[in-house]
Amino acid sequence: MSLTVPAGTSLDPALVALYKDLHQHPELGFREHRTASLVAERLRALDIEATTGVGGTGVVAVIRNGPGPTALLRADMDALPVTEDTGLDYASTVTATGADGSVVGVAHACGHDLHTTCLLGAAQQLAGDLSSWSGTLVLVFQPAEELAAGAQAMVDDGLYDRFPRPDVVLGQHVSPLPAGKIAGHHGAAYAGSDSLRVRIVGKGAHGSMPQSSVDPVVMAAATVLRLQTIISREIPSTEVAVLTVGSIHAGQAANVIPGEAELQLNIRSYDDATRQHILDGVGRIVRAEAAAAGAPEDPTVTEFERFPVVVNDDDALARTFQAFGDWLGPDHLLDPGAGAGSEDVGILATSADAPLSFWLLGGSDPSLFTTGDLSDPALLKVPSNHSPKYAPVIDPTLSLGVTALVTAARAWLPARTA
Ligand SMILES: [Zn+2]
Ligand SMILES: [Zn+2]
Repeated sequence: MSLTVPAGTSLDPALVALYKDLHQHPELGFREHRTASLVAERLRALDIEATTGVGGTGVVAVIRNGPGPTALLRADMDALPVTEDTGLDYASTVTATGADGSVVGVAHACGHDLHTTCLLGAAQQLAGDLSSWSGTLVLVFQPAEELAAGAQAMVDDGLYDRFPRPDVVLGQHVSPLPAGKIAGHHGAAYAGSDSLRVRIVGKGAHGSMPQSSVDPVVMAAATVLRLQTIISREIPSTEVAVLTVGSIHAGQAANVIPGEAELQLNIRSYDDATRQHILDGVGRIVRAEAAAAGAPEDPTVTEFERFPVVVNDDDALARTFQAFGDWLGPDHLLDPGAGAGSEDVGILATSADAPLSFWLLGGSDPSLFTTGDLSDPALLKVPSNHSPKYAPVIDPTLSLGVTALVTAARAWLPARTA
């Protein structure tokens, strides 16, 4: 049995070609030069005013269409340092120099090429039908989502001084759900994420003379274990939070006690108080373990990446999903609960003090599923975002993604009557 797939708009061959082109030419965060110029070129061909270079490689387009509210539609454009293994005839073979100087494969393993293409498709439809709506549309093609930096870079570059400030921020992310399903969660929908670097300073010595050392390896080990007690002993069981030590480095030889150790931590949380409690706990434990060891120097804790919690506004999400329900029927809408993944789209909303409505767009082949709901066993089998095997199925995801954006925008922009 396969699922019924609702109708989007008909599949536009020019959009399919553009999608495949973007898919074959992925670019890492803040290097989306080719992508941005293709986006701007296409917008200008539609007679839409477009500005490039916003926050590095971001593109902003504005469609002013009379009185009414301002809706911001957002897509991200960056790819990941992943070597594609989808077997598709339009798979990426691109490589680039990664952050550490090594050569890495580059792929649109998170589907941002689909987001970009869908937003261009939505721009084409809405700009081609100006007599049916009024208000202002701001189209944001954001760089560097995967680096947790693109949204903030655009805001810092004057996004809301140079372009109209929105009354609502709307956006979507393609997901492994079957195409034809749209999912959204009210309130804290995606986790806040903090990545920290902890530098522990000890005193190096010959491996045979521990009495001359302050051993940072032992300090690091004790610190890692004690950090586990923040979630297990300090956070109430009703709160969801994660603390992972994903990297630990010290020394290079068995018979040398090194002078330093470095840990990298990732923290996931869903509210500010819990986040602050965990951050305070990390600082307290790192300092206390160093003090317990008699370290010659205080350790340092540096945050190098932060995604704030993505909070969907209750009324905004309800309004958007009412429109999706009218289009798709309620059976095609899901509430996946709060996700552990992270996104920087929330920065575009909080910086404008505007409500956010952000949803997941199903992108997997519907014929692989039986029920298509969250208990469908196929969900555990289909590749997920960031996998080298991840790529959404073009038909019908592309046309559904375009229609979703148009439907969401129209839920906010008043209809014109002749
Ligand atoms: Zn991603
Ligand atoms: Zn993504």
